[in-house]
Amino acid sequence: MEQHQVLVVGSGPAGAACAKALRKADVDVVIIEKEKLPRHKICSGVLFGQTQVLLEKYFGGLPPHDVYCTPKEISAAHILEWKAKEGFFPYIWEMGKDGVDFPQVYLNIWRSKFDHWLAQQCGAELRQNCSARSMTQDSAIINLTVFQKDSHTLDPGAQKDPQQEIACQYLVGADGWDSSVRGFVDEQWRTKPVDVIVYQEYCAFKNMGTLRKGHWYVFFNPAVGDILCCMHRKDDLATLCVGGLPSRNIRAGMATFKQFLADQFQVSLGEVDRGEGCTIRQLPPNLGAGRVLLTGEAAGFAYLNGEGISAAIDSGYRTGLAIAQAIKSGGSALDIYKNNTTDMMAHMDLCLKNMHFLVGQ
Ligand SMILES: Cc1cc2nc3c(=O)[nH]c(=O)nc-3n(C[C@H](O)[C@H](O)[C@H](O)COP(=O)(O)OP(=O)(O)OC[C@H]3O[C@@H](n4cnc5c(N)ncnc54)[C@H](O)[C@@H]3O)c2cc1C
Repeated sequence: MEQHQVLVVGSGPAGAACAKALRKADVDVVIIEKEKLPRHKICSGVLFGQTQVLLEKYFGGLPPHDVYCTPKEISAAHILEWKAKEGFFPYIWEMGKDGVDFPQVYLNIWRSKFDHWLAQQCGAELRQNCSARSMTQDSAIINLTVFQKDSHTLDPGAQKDPQQEIACQYLVGADGWDSSVRGFVDEQWRTKPVDVIVYQEYCAFKNMGTLRKGHWYVFFNPAVGDILCCMHRKDDLATLCVGGLPSRNIRAGMATFKQFLADQFQVSLGEVDRGEGCTIRQLPPNLGAGRVLLTGEAAGFAYLNGEGISAAIDSGYRTGLAIAQAIKSGGSALDIYKNNTTDMMAHMDLCLKNMHFLVGQ
């Protein structure tokens, strides 16, 4: 049977960063990704200041020019919250960490291109169209069953079995908000009802009315659409996002948000280019069990209200470092990982306490 030292499930920022750290330590690692890259991912696609610092640190620089969309830069001072009485005022989306402030100019990117670039930079073999299905393990080896969705699978006459087993010493779950790997090791994850639904649309626009280019607008008022509504521009599309409780009709919330934008700011939106949703289950972070390590969003890493790319890159890289150290010097990779992420956990707590729409400031 095919065997590797490490299998990483998911080729988002966490998976790519984990593989990058492992390849740097000369560890044999393969990434299993269920989609074909470049793949779309629901996201506002903003690289906050910390993300930029981490890209320089772990990937040696920022992405190339074709990854960005227009306007390329969003100043932190141009993220604005709106309230009926006060009008617009600055909204803080990212906080400094360990006494360090991050760059205050954020970068507007296409997630599809950004994640593809990260995967190319990480130096690991990438199995695309390949999804993790189930896992068994004994004391030394983990067997991962993967499903390969390729042309043979789609061809009714194909002989090839789309199901394959791959063995590894360590399995990393970097498979995001709907993590299968977390489900392998976390009973609560499998059974927990959804807490929040997020719905996003990319819309053509005829006129942005009184809203300005290079700004990102945030609304925390259920009357506007739902708990969280936001909008900014990407090339010739407006990116609109609505987040609310599962008991509410999120599509109706989006319609309310659009009507509000038209009435209040004379925004004229056209055809929906793309609409998509995802769910969030709020559980305490879980870094894994035994030789199965969880990272990025699968582990529960995210800052403030969903600033997750930096948390994914940082936790992913640290997962890779922990496994590389355990392979080289012995010890538990999970314990090393837990120890080397205490500052990230503290930062998550700090951010949670400062989510002002939750604490009602
Ligand atoms: C609406 C919205 C807007 C956001 N905007 C921002 C933003 O502007 N800036 C920011 O920093 N963060 C943002 N976030 C958060 C950010 O998108 C996530 O925190 C981040 O993508 C997490 O990265 P990850 O690598 O952990 O997971 P992901 O990026 O989700 O990557 C997981 C990968 O695993 C693959 N996968 C899943 N299941 C399997 C399987 N069974 N087998 C194989 N592969 C699998 C997926 O295809 C995917 O490629 C936003 C989130 C949402 C919902």
